Amino acid sequence: MNVEQARKEIEPLREQINTHNKLYYTNATPIISDLEYDRLLKNLIDLEEQFPQLQSADSPSQKVGGEPIQGFRTVQHRTPMLSIDNVYEQQGIRHFDGRVRKLLAVDTLDYTLEYKIDGVALAAIYKQGKLNLALTRGDGREGDDITHNARTVRGVPLVLQGDYPPVLEVRGEAYIANSDFAILQAEQKRQGENVFANPRNSTAGALKLLDPKLCAQRKVRFVAHGIGYVENFEPQTHFEYIQRLKQFGIPTTPGIRVCHGIDDVLHQTELMMEQLHELDLEIDGLVIKVNDLSFQKKLGVTSKSPRWIIAYKWERYEAITQTQSIQIQVGKTGTLTPVANLAPVQIAGTTVSRSSLHNKDEMQRLGIKIGDWVVVEKAGKIIPHVLRVVMEKRNGTEQDFHFPERCPVCHTPAERDEGGVYIRCPNLECPARLKETIRFFASRSAMDIEGLGTKLVEQLVDSGLIKNLADLYTLSEKKEALLAMERMGEKSVSNLLQGIEDSKTKPLWRLLTGLNIRHVGASNAQTLANKFRSLDELQKQSEQSLAEVDEIGPVIAESVHHFMNSPYGKNMLQSLKESGLNPELPPASPDQDKNSLAGKIFVITGTLNRFTRLEIQELIRQEGGKASSSISKNTNYLIAGENAGSKLQKAKKLGVPVLSEEDFQRLLTET
Ligand SMILES: [Zn+2]
Repeated sequence: MNVEQARKEIEPLREQINTHNKLYYTNATPIISDLEYDRLLKNLIDLEEQFPQLQSADSPSQKVGGEPIQGFRTVQHRTPMLSIDNVYEQQGIRHFDGRVRKLLAVDTLDYTLEYKIDGVALAAIYKQGKLNLALTRGDGREGDDITHNARTVRGVPLVLQGDYPPVLEVRGEAYIANSDFAILQAEQKRQGENVFANPRNSTAGALKLLDPKLCAQRKVRFVAHGIGYVENFEPQTHFEYIQRLKQFGIPTTPGIRVCHGIDDVLHQTELMMEQLHELDLEIDGLVIKVNDLSFQKKLGVTSKSPRWIIAYKWERYEAITQTQSIQIQVGKTGTLTPVANLAPVQIAGTTVSRSSLHNKDEMQRLGIKIGDWVVVEKAGKIIPHVLRVVMEKRNGTEQDFHFPERCPVCHTPAERDEGGVYIRCPNLECPARLKETIRFFASRSAMDIEGLGTKLVEQLVDSGLIKNLADLYTLSEKKEALLAMERMGEKSVSNLLQGIEDSKTKPLWRLLTGLNIRHVGASNAQTLANKFRSLDELQKQSEQSLAEVDEIGPVIAESVHHFMNSPYGKNMLQSLKESGLNPELPPASPDQDKNSLAGKIFVITGTLNRFTRLEIQELIRQEGGKASSSISKNTNYLIAGENAGSKLQKAKKLGVPVLSEEDFQRLLTET
């Protein structure tokens, strides 16, 4: 095939995929199976790889992520992205209606009503139908250019369909679906990473990543609900505007409807609240807008927010309490995490007395001081989260909290992640990091060393018996010192030493996970182990050859290469090897590891609801399993969606266990 022939294939293929994307994400009416879709996309990616000169930033293949960027640039919004006024009671909605009708001198008004998604505001700017720029809200006047990540967001088409205007700025909400978030959280827990408190934080973090491939993995979605700067585009009403967006292939807020007069609004409000549980995303209220765009224009804006819009929010699982102190915790990757100690308060049946403030940026967004009264919510009903400061309760005795310039444990100057939100202690031998590093190394997600719990790790580090990770393997020579420690008898010492000895035979991927290399969790560790089979081989690789491995990519490659060649990494690997830790990849056997899907063969059939085919295959592969298309007696599980046919029959005949999507999800989270 020559370039011209390839071009002739690529163009219609892109169009075809764009159409299917629209049918899937905007209309929710796919007409081909996920498998067929995956085949089209793979065809396109293959062709583009073969003919790199035909690659394009607008190609739907970019949805899996392009090249990482070096840093963020700030761009001014053509029209400011203002915030919305909130009301918390129905009375507030009536007041809003009264105010608006008075200003417009009309008796009754049409309003639109839509769900308010608890996500991250995003502006996507299209020029001649192509995604040109995507910005965060920032301070409302200027935001960060996150175009590289927006390209991977589902629901931000790279190319518009239909009769679009020459310039169109679409505003809406980026979010992660609850079902995707649950999988993400389970994965993070398993990999021993910082677990995101809620989908919104996770979305915000994803959009601020430098590497769009990592962002693509978070499965961020987008729905539009508003208008920014446009040219030659004049719909009459907000509702019409939303309908037009759908025609262009952009998904819009769920449940939008037009209400005639305020009584209808209040009535519909109740209906929508009843239907809340059907949505697979976090909703924190409803938004009411004057439908007529010329009225909107007439009403204009105050310094803070538009006069034609109001959010009706409700408080669920929330409480108000006082911040007693703020402390900094140092995690295993050196992350300095601010934590608020709160006056104990009851929320949804449990006592809450502390809450993570996540990072410095989040603290600044909240503007929190020591002594402040705060609204705390239990996001997902489990993890407490500080929503906002109750400014009205300030009395002047509150104290500023200064985020430390240095690590509170080892006093090394802290550093901010390049382009990121986390601030770290860079000292690899920081005692706080060392404790977390060893605790993680010994955890179930990594080396799974029995008898080495959190308390013991603290004692070992504090007593100076362990000064680095490899020192673990010298403990057998320090039996006397161990016996002298609190609560350590003959039996617990010998259990501990046995556990440490046994860890020498753990598989390579567990060791790689335990090394705590940035971006290398269990699934990337498995990929690397499968590819390179031994530490020696892995150490020999150049950054380039690491980056060429499927799913690894430049950011992870850089991190691995850096670790392997840093004095710290080199010394650690050398000492570990000398202690007898040098696993080579054992032959794959299905029972090798009960805690993952290693070696298991899955077949998928029927119509899936929770996952796409691509997603479910990806999950299986990440866990070390294999997705096959035909069923045989070697198949370990059949995942059956709706309307499963002959494969289900065959599975039953062969005695192959059948899983629903829910069963499969449980299998994932339990392992
Ligand atoms: Zn430190």
